[in-house]
Parts: sequence; structure tokens; C-alpha cells
Amino acid sequence: MYNPRFEKEAFKKEVTNNVKTLFRRTVDEATPQQLFQAVSYAVKEVIIDDWLATQKKYDEDDPKMVYYMSMEFLMGRALGNNLINMTAYTEVKEALDEMGIDLNAIEDEEPDPALGNGGLGRLAACFLDSLATLGYAAYGCGIRYHYGMFKQKIEDGYQVEKPDNWLKDGNPFELRRPEYAKEVRFGGNIRVEYDEEGRTHFVQENYESVLAIPYDYPIVGYNNHVVNTLRIWDAEPIVDFQLDSFDRGDYHKAVEQQNLAKNIVEVLYPNDNHYAGKELRLKQQYFFISASIQAAIVKYKKKHDDITKLCEKVTFQMNDTHPTVAVAELMRILLDEEGLGWNEAWNITTKTCAYTNHTIMAEALEKWPIDLFSRLLPRIYQIIQEIDRRFVEQIRKTYPGDEGKVKRMAILMDGQVKMAHLAIVAGYSVNGVARLHTEILKNQELKDFYQMMPEKFNNKTNGITQRRFLMHGNSLLADWVTDKLGTKDWITDLSLMSGLKRWADDEEALKEFMSIKYKNKERLAEYILEHNGIEVDPRSIFDVQVKRLHEYKRQLLNILHVMYLYNQVKEHPEKSFYPRTFIFGAKASAGYIRAKQIIKLINSVADVVNNDRSINGKLKMVFIEDYRVSNAEWIFAAADVSEQISTASKEASGTGNMKFMLNGAPTIGTMDGANVEIVEEVGIDNAFIFGLSSDEVIHFELNGGYNPMDIYNNDPDIRRVVDQLVDGTYAHGNTELYRDLYNSLLNTKSSSRADMYFILKDFRAYAQAQQEVEEAYRDKDRWAKMALLNTACCGKFSSDRTIQEYVEDIWHLDKITVEV
Ligand SMILES: *Cc1c(COP(=O)(O)O)cnc(C)c1O
Repeated sequence: MYNPRFEKEAFKKEVTNNVKTLFRRTVDEATPQQLFQAVSYAVKEVIIDDWLATQKKYDEDDPKMVYYMSMEFLMGRALGNNLINMTAYTEVKEALDEMGIDLNAIEDEEPDPALGNGGLGRLAACFLDSLATLGYAAYGCGIRYHYGMFKQKIEDGYQVEKPDNWLKDGNPFELRRPEYAKEVRFGGNIRVEYDEEGRTHFVQENYESVLAIPYDYPIVGYNNHVVNTLRIWDAEPIVDFQLDSFDRGDYHKAVEQQNLAKNIVEVLYPNDNHYAGKELRLKQQYFFISASIQAAIVKYKKKHDDITKLCEKVTFQMNDTHPTVAVAELMRILLDEEGLGWNEAWNITTKTCAYTNHTIMAEALEKWPIDLFSRLLPRIYQIIQEIDRRFVEQIRKTYPGDEGKVKRMAILMDGQVKMAHLAIVAGYSVNGVARLHTEILKNQELKDFYQMMPEKFNNKTNGITQRRFLMHGNSLLADWVTDKLGTKDWITDLSLMSGLKRWADDEEALKEFMSIKYKNKERLAEYILEHNGIEVDPRSIFDVQVKRLHEYKRQLLNILHVMYLYNQVKEHPEKSFYPRTFIFGAKASAGYIRAKQIIKLINSVADVVNNDRSINGKLKMVFIEDYRVSNAEWIFAAADVSEQISTASKEASGTGNMKFMLNGAPTIGTMDGANVEIVEEVGIDNAFIFGLSSDEVIHFELNGGYNPMDIYNNDPDIRRVVDQLVDGTYAHGNTELYRDLYNSLLNTKSSSRADMYFILKDFRAYAQAQQEVEEAYRDKDRWAKMALLNTACCGKFSSDRTIQEYVEDIWHLDKITVEV
């Protein structure tokens, strides 16, 4: 397709000129990083025209907009993705080729903007891609962390965290917008004033404040000229650090504001599914929320004078409870700045804010200590007190005499602010992220709320964008899909993938499908050789578990099973065993000791297994360092088997599972999160399902767990691998290195419940399912068909489908079109 906006000679000239003006060099002299910058600026130039056209269209049409509020946006690299969405990838690649520049090599120069931890942040990024592609007006609202997710190094088998200075060479795609700066205030006290009419005013005094400066980042829709905005806020001191403030005795105040600004956006907290209760984290939350809501109100008021109709043009979607101060900040602006009464303000707020729940795990629930919260956000706290007072009154009216309800549902209880309760009470929608998860919310975790306000609850099963995770990550398969379907329309309508089913019995098509998988495995094998120095055989089964390291995700089950297989292979060298490569990738939160022990264990087992000549390379293990969006794209493309083995009920949805499916990797997994819906789409025969159901897990939990000693005592294979944690096999004779992991399974010393995540309980079923994987893989035709059907049945899991459901059920946005 000829793309006039990327007229080849003009584009080449632009790149050459950029190298010259930015770096005073010629293309031949420029470093790869400089070429990346020069090309990116040339691409941005084209994006800007669409960006302007989109904003103009929004001005004219005045559509309803969603503000997607998220502490995390795990964007991944922009250059390649932007080119794909502008349908200019091939042409730009050609143009650069002619200049002697390798597009793939310069793509590799772009730092991964890693402003997120894992699934929650990546979901936000996929949603922005889908919103722009579907032509909906949307802002992403977040924080411009100066240091994103840490870079992971493995040293002597241990995870070491290195700072991710992603901005050090500048970010060609962002745009600083100082003209939209907003002041955000912290601390101090609230003085109450009365005016002549007897009206009350709340004045915050003795506060510290920072200036929030927005940086806009273009979100390019696919082939539609729509460019939305991710607006991430940076912090600067409110007054320049001037000597005259010293003379006025404000020196300390000036220094404090300088430090506050410097600290607030310094670094992303690396916790995934875990609440740490740090004051700076609450500052970050209020900082970006206050700035975002202020900006949204200013924007609304430019066009509308009736603030009570805000919900007709604006909706705020809160990605988990992290942005929940939004409801109180909106109330503050409506009450204190717009001068509305409580009922009026509450009526607006509860039609404008909506909440997405991402987890039911107790350790992830945000509960701020009241003393910390009220000290940092005194006016916001007052407002929450009043919300709580009225809500408790309502509970008592609905359930007279039932103080248990009050205790379980109040927002303020036991000295804590319960953010999930605030989000549910003030939100007009509460959604879970997969059907099973939403059912657990309604029937177990949030049962009281569901009974009192059932109309708020709904499900929105997560999705992923096929533009990044197939077109960009697996161009060979993307081209094959287009060829087989005879259309490119799947790029914006993934349900069309079902048309591939008719190739599921076509020998030639299956051969092509598997030969593409093989090429992607070769590409990953090269990456592994380069990064790990380990040779892996692309003919072996690539069995992959990549995701954040967490006990509930059960990497430990996977590794114990590898230890079990290794014992089997050593003991029965005569038995046939299909060669397997177990691939892991996972970052552990820096303070999560047990997760880091599991990383060390994976690397220790890898050391022993990979260096044991006696097993003839039947087993290999690889830990891919620094798992992140850019290497994830290659890993999904190369996977034969997708490990989705969380303890049933714990993984709200998962999205990695969908990326594997899209790329033709059958799932071995539990009936958890979106796995349930994946199996429903692909058929139980095209997945390997094992283990306890969520009902069984919840039943055990309600009854104090189970006794793993029964399993340990009665299953010698299991006993052997558990004992190998403390007999020095994988620790050069050290019996203490993995003692804590051993204890966590058997509870001989640990304080929490034994085997909380049912690893030993599910072990046999998992080993059996893995045996079935091997048998299925041996049958080449059967496997190819299974893999192809996974790709063919993945249509439901596009984030385009998810976003369309949000629009129809929650946001009610208007579609726009942009012509240039
Ligand atoms: C998709 C993705 C995740 C989420 O994976 P899960 O298996 O759903 O936990 C995490 N990190 C990256 C880089 C991803 O691309």
C-alpha cells in the first residue's frame, strides 16, 4: 500500500536533516542511538499532523471522553508500534534500508518505557491502543516516573535491581506542556470560614505544594488518523529556588518544596499485587489524580457552563484502587471551588467515576492508616469522613440492627481508610476483569456490596492488542494469517481469526504454521545464546512461564516439577523423553524475599541440569533476564506451551495467557482467571487443564487450609523433590539456602499456613497434565492442529472487544472519525 505521508525521498531527507541538526553528524557518522532519535523525530513529525487533526475534531464534535486513570502504563517501545499503526512499517523499513540503516537495530535502541509492573500496567497500555483504534476520545492519566521498573540483572543466580534511567537520552515522542501545569497541595490544616451569607468555606493553609507539569505522549490508532494522548505528570517546585526566599525566611520552605517535587515522581514502586502503605506512594496517587481532575474540569468548563452535566461529557475510570482519591478530589473541586452543595456534588461524582477491581488477595488491598492519610490530605480526609458518615447511615437504614454490615462495609474502620470501599460507594460501576473473578467478587469478596447495590457490578474480561502482540511481535504469523484469511481486517476485528479454523485439517497449512513457530523459536534461541550463553535446541518443546514472580502464580510448582523430571530422566535413562526447554522470565519486587529465593532456585536448578552431560540435553532451563514488553513480544511468538498455573481463584484474569494463545501456544493451566474463558473458546481438548477448582481452593481456605504432610509422607516422588530443597543438591551442599521455601510448603517453622498456594496438593495433577503435553507434542499433526486452533479461537481476547464492552456498558462514548 502506498502511503503518501511517508513519501520515501522526503522521509529520507528528513532523517538526514534530523541527524544533522540534532547531532551535527552525517548518517554514516551517527551512532545507532542517534539514528533512533533522528528517525523517531521524523515519525513524530507525521504523527503531529494527525494529533492536531484529532484534537481539532474533538473540539468540533465535543464527544464524551474517558479519562483512564492509572498509576501504571507499561507501554513498551513506541517506534515500531507507531509505524505499524500508521501502516508505514514496511515503507519506512525500505527507506531506511536504502540509507544503510537497519530498522530493527535502531528499534532496539529505544528504552522500553517501563512505567508499570506487569499485567495491570500493560492492560492500561493495550486499552489506550484499542481506544485510539476504535476512534474513541480518551486520555490516559499517569505519572512520568523518572525511573521506571528496575532493570533486572542476574548475578550468581540472584536478582539484582539496577535503576532504569529511561529518560537519559531524552524521549523523542513526548511533548512537554508547561501551559497546562497545575498546583497540587499537601498537608497543612483546614481553616473554616463563613461568608456574609453564612456559607462555609474550607481553606487549606500551611501546606506544601508542587507544580504538576504534563508531558503528552501520542497514542496512534490503527490506520485511522486518530491520535489520542497519554498525559503523564512530572513534578517541579512551585517557586524557583531563589535567593530572595532566603531573605524572607522561606529558605526551608523553598528547599522542602524542591525536595518534594524531586521525590514525588522519582520512581515507580515495584510491587505487583501488593500493598506497602508508604506515604510517598499516597503522595504520588494524589499528585497525579489532583492534576488530572483539575485539568479535566478546566477542559470541560471551556465548552460547558453547567458543571452538573459533567457526566454527559466525562467519565473517570479508575484502574484498581490506586486512583481512588479521585472521587474525593472531584468532590473537593465541586464543593470548595464550584460552590455546589453536598447532594449536588455527590450526584455528579457518582455518575462520573467508575472502578475496576484487579484482585481479591488480602495483601493487595489498599488500607491507609487514618493518621497518615489525614495529615497528608486533610481536606480530602474530611470529605471521605462525610462520605463514610452518610454511607454508614444508609447501611443502618437498609439493614437495621446489623452492625456486622457496618463493620464489614464502612470506608473508615479500625483506624484505616479502605480504598476499595470508597471506590465502590462512589463509583457508578464496579467491574471485575474475567468472568470467574467477577463471580467471586459478587458471591464472596464483595458479597455485602453486591447485595446492597447489585446494579453497579459487571464483568469486563481483559484483552490484549493484536497490533503489538501479533503484528509487531510475530510478523511471520501475522502475514500468514492475512494470507489465509484473504484479508487484513483481523487487525481491527480479531473475531475474524475464527476463519482460520478451516485450515485446521489442511496438511500444508499446518506445516506452514509450525514452520513459522520454528523460525520464531530459532530467533529466541539466538537471543538466549547471546544473553545467557546457553544453547537451546529449537526442536525441543519450548515450555514458557513468563510473568511477575509471585507465590500465587506458582513458579515454584513449575520448578519442583522440573526437579522431578530431572530425577526421572536420571533414574530411567532408557525411557523415552521428549526434549524440553523450560523458559522462565520474572521480576520479583525488590523487597519480596521469598520471590527472590525462587529466582535463585530456578537459576540453581538450571545450573545443575544444563551442565549435566549424562542427560544428553533432554532438559534445558533458561531464565531470561529482565523480562519486559520488548523481549516478551519475541517470547510469546516462540512458545510451544503457555504456563498459566496460578492457584485457582487468585489470578483475576491474566493477559499473558491471551498473548500465548494468539501466538499459537496451548495452555497448561488451572481453571483460574481468563483461562476459564480461553478453554471455553478453544475447547478443553486443546488445552491441558489440571488442579483444584476455585471453589475447592476457597473451601479449603475457609476451613484452615489442608495438610501437606499427608502428601509428603505418601508420595515418594514429591517427598524427594521437597527434600532436595534442603539436602544441598541445588546449593553446593548448603542445606539452609532453600530452607524457607521448604518450610513454606510443609510449615515446620513458618508462621503462615502450610503450602498456602496448594503446590503439593496440585503437584500430581500438574505432572499428569505435563505428561499429556509430551504425548500430544509427539503427535506432530495433532499438536499443529491444537496450536493453530489456539490462534483461530483467540478472537474474544482482543482488547478491542474489551473496550467496546466498556463503551457500551459503562462509558457510553461517542465515536469520532478523523480525515486528513
Ligand atoms: C502481558 C504482560 C504481563 C502480564 O502477564 P500475566 O501472565 O498475565 O501475569 C506482565 N509483564 C509483561 C511485560 C507483559 O507483556
